[in-house]
Amino acid sequence: MPEHTHRAATSGAPLLEVEGLTAGYGGVQAVRDLSFTVGPGEVVALLGPNGAGKTTSLLATVGLLPLMSGTVRALGQPVDTRKPHLLARRGVMMVPDDRGIFYGLSVADHFRLARRRADASRRALVLERFPALERLMSRKVGLLSGGEQQMLTIAKALLAEPKVLMIDEMSLGLAPKIVQEMLPSIRDLAKQEGIGLVLVEQHIELALSVADRGLILNHGRVVLDGPASELLQRRDQVEAAYFGADDLGDVDEEVLPTASTS
Ligand code: ATP
Repeated sequence: MPEHTHRAATSGAPLLEVEGLTAGYGGVQAVRDLSFTVGPGEVVALLGPNGAGKTTSLLATVGLLPLMSGTVRALGQPVDTRKPHLLARRGVMMVPDDRGIFYGLSVADHFRLARRRADASRRALVLERFPALERLMSRKVGLLSGGEQQMLTIAKALLAEPKVLMIDEMSLGLAPKIVQEMLPSIRDLAKQEGIGLVLVEQHIELALSVADRGLILNHGRVVLDGPASELLQRRDQVEAAYFGADDLGDVDEEVLPTASTS
């Protein structure tokens, strides 16, 4: 088994099993040998600076980018990279960092488009999480604030009752206060419904504060991983990993390398 593998902290078979994932562009590897699992109700934070390979990891996981090597299993089955849309239909969804919304359409239009199978009770449950959207229903998305747009993007994904939800840089362009409100709300819903949640983030502290596990990517590979609560207490290692130390291993290890290891 590859070095950086974590089994689900929660009960139940893993919803997502990524093992030895290597992917990139034009033959150049952007992420190497990435392994992690996500169980029902588990929140995994994939952290790292710009260009670390976070988005590439998500794209390869959902089959939008071919694997150079490694395997991805979602909901117990191998991911078919030739048919990524089928994965979304099965409930494995990625929310891209460009938000995937239409500025000329209203909030209500997006709800209608996203709903298809969602019934009124689902809609009510999602609006309970994001009550601000209720009064914005008739507003064009282009007129919403960044935070409101992000709420809509995530609400849209939640309407489809995902089993696995991967959110790419939710906090991009948002005030920390908004992120502080939204992340716990999404985490709570994931716990309540057993959704496996992968959060790609640059806000280390905020992401780890809601996550069960954290992996820090740098230059395309995992340089640190472990339970989020432990990572939060190891700020020096986390910062060293984030800002470029080579391999800081696993905080589960008994002996922790120092932040100066590089
Ligand atoms: P960011 O927060 O800046 O999006 P990231 O951690 O998500 O960073 P990736 O977008 O996965 O990083 O990029 C990883 C590497 O792959 C970077 O070196 C980037 O320049 C490169 N890369 C990303 N997209 C492409 C692409 N479409 N074609 C070629 N190289 C790419």
